[in-house]
Amino acid sequence: DNANLFAALRAAFPSDLAACAVETDSGLQYTWGDLEHATAMVANLLESLDLPEGARIAVQVEKSVEALVLYLATLRAGLVYLPLNTAYQSAEMAYFIEDAQPAVVVCSGRNFGWVSKMAFLAGTAYVFTLNDDRTGSLLERAAQFPRTHTIAQRQSDDLAAIIYTSGTTGRSKGAMLSHGNLLSNARVLQTYWDWKPGDVLIHALPIFHVHGLFVAIHGALINGSKMVWCAKFDPKVVLQHFPRATVFMGVPTLYVRLLAEPGLNAQAVQNMRLFVSGSAPMLVDTHHQWQQRTGHTILERYGMSETVMLTSNPGRASDGERVVGTVGQPLPGVLLRVRDEAGKDLPVGETGGIEVRGPNVFQGYWQMPEKTAQEFTVDGFFKTGDVGHVDAQGYVTIVGRSKDLIISGGYNVYPAEIEGYINNLPGVAESAVVAVPDADFGEVGVAVIVPLAGARVDPVQVIATLKATLANFKVPKRCEVVAELPRNAMGKVQKNLLRAQYQTGT
Ligand code: ATP
Ligand code: MG
Repeated sequence: DNANLFAALRAAFPSDLAACAVETDSGLQYTWGDLEHATAMVANLLESLDLPEGARIAVQVEKSVEALVLYLATLRAGLVYLPLNTAYQSAEMAYFIEDAQPAVVVCSGRNFGWVSKMAFLAGTAYVFTLNDDRTGSLLERAAQFPRTHTIAQRQSDDLAAIIYTSGTTGRSKGAMLSHGNLLSNARVLQTYWDWKPGDVLIHALPIFHVHGLFVAIHGALINGSKMVWCAKFDPKVVLQHFPRATVFMGVPTLYVRLLAEPGLNAQAVQNMRLFVSGSAPMLVDTHHQWQQRTGHTILERYGMSETVMLTSNPGRASDGERVVGTVGQPLPGVLLRVRDEAGKDLPVGETGGIEVRGPNVFQGYWQMPEKTAQEFTVDGFFKTGDVGHVDAQGYVTIVGRSKDLIISGGYNVYPAEIEGYINNLPGVAESAVVAVPDADFGEVGVAVIVPLAGARVDPVQVIATLKATLANFKVPKRCEVVAELPRNAMGKVQKNLLRAQYQTGT
């Protein structure tokens, strides 16, 4: 029995290999047979390099079906896939290449000069290029290899991928995920989200993070479902594809941008079955607008690089309601608990650190044994770093990250609570509350507010309103009005940048 994730994905291919597996926004069609043969050829190429067990294949390329093939071929050859954000420049790439020590680096042709130099200096043996127009040395080399390949034998605990975290709270850490981690999560989601024969996924996310690479791709493949493949997210293009698809996954910003399209209405999505959101909190207002415009309730779920998916609102009515503002219940197989700083279990409804355990929880941080040890409890739970509470029905609400907690005059202030109040004020589109150092209180909050288009927000008025609503220690001491919040590629607000920007000037 082969625990290789690719073996399970391959087994789910439809028997008709001539059917379409991936259709791109540029009009290309790939059959299941194309995926089978292309992954075999690339896997054969990788195997011919005679790499040691556990060798990393680091990949920084534009999104393309060939990049998907490279991911699948890496699994197929039993090597470790290591995707890197296409936005990373030389300083970041130097860190990742030195940290990960990849045996192979695949980059786009235009970056070959500096990436190959950097990689060879770090001891990488092979650098290939792969462009988003099906050119580059990787495919040229792979073309000389046979179209058949025996899937490498892997154990469940063997590493399949290293995913660097988004770096929202500090330096990115490499989360080591095994074949078993990824496969167990894919199977659970297939059932929990009620994937059906004939489902078609619109894939419009980047493929260097858990959401686009695992949740979306495994979701479609383990179900033998076709993907409509968008190289970039363009709301107009996605809207055009809705009639031919049934499932869409996005980070909250994608939904906000779709809502800005006048053509988004119930008719435009009448063929759609499921909308999934995650990676960052979705504003309740976005949920409500989506319900009004389309009649659909977005399924919000919660996960992270270290664990893949942890909790989810139900996919099918028999598992309960989708509760807006929550991230749903722990997925089958996931144990989730909330504890205080002293490690004591908290009762229902009380806010504390979220800890999890399950077959999806990672093998540790790459080359950080102390950090790994610190983040696990003695009984094997992983400390997510997220803060939240669970209601009597088991629905989890995330209120922020422990690192974003503001400790003002000795009191804990959860930014998400304050942001919730601010977002409900007239004229406010969204907000972020961050801690800045303060001589008297240790830390105080600064509210950074984005007004609705055309609206004016008066900072003095905001503070006055909050003072009349909330305990004084929770009220931000300053309020800044800005055009937009800094976000990273996954749509996460970069609070570290806001903290740095506003830490002086009081
Ligand atoms: P780093 O760990 O490097 O600081 P990161 O935590 O942002 O970065 P990821 O692993 O990509 O890196 O993101 C996981 C985090 O995203 C979770 O810990 C959680 O804070 C947040 N997240 C994911 N889904 C949701 C959601 N539905 N609602 C709120 N937060 C979410
Ligand atoms: Mg994290």
